[in-house]
Amino acid sequence: MSAESGLRGHLFELAGELGIVVVERAASRPRSYLHERRIVTAPIADVVSYYVALHELGHVVTDGPDTMASGPRRRREPRVVAARLLLGEARAWGWALDVALVAPDHPTQLHMLEAWTTYVLAGGGTVATAGIELVAAEHRGEYAATWDRIARNWTWEP
Ligand SMILES: [Zn+2]
Repeated sequence: MSAESGLRGHLFELAGELGIVVVERAASRPRSYLHERRIVTAPIADVVSYYVALHELGHVVTDGPDTMASGPRRRREPRVVAARLLLGEARAWGWALDVALVAPDHPTQLHMLEAWTTYVLAGGGTVATAGIELVAAEHRGEYAATWDRIARNWTWEP
């Protein structure tokens, strides 16, 4: 069994235990559907796609009233949306790191930081601060700790 098929097997095993349906679909944006307990993700073929799929499972598991996917619509001003999205990203990546069988390799680390940074910039945050200024004060410790888990030991060279 190759390392890649081992990771794919782990992802499906985990999803099965959680009662989450995994749909592998190339050329489709990864997504999680909380209420349907379903994710759509690229075919799991390497560490990056494994982590992306874990991240989407993480949304189904960790999203709650503090994050984007749920909560009253009336609170959806841009700043609240950004704060929730960023916290949701942190929780989904943190969950992925907690359950993954392997540490993120360099391409995966790069993907995680780029994906997360996209949300930071879209919310009006800065890369230098990882957007922490957008996050509600009571969640900043959790947010920063998760960013540090990914950015720690980061180098531009693999
Ligand atoms: Zn996400």
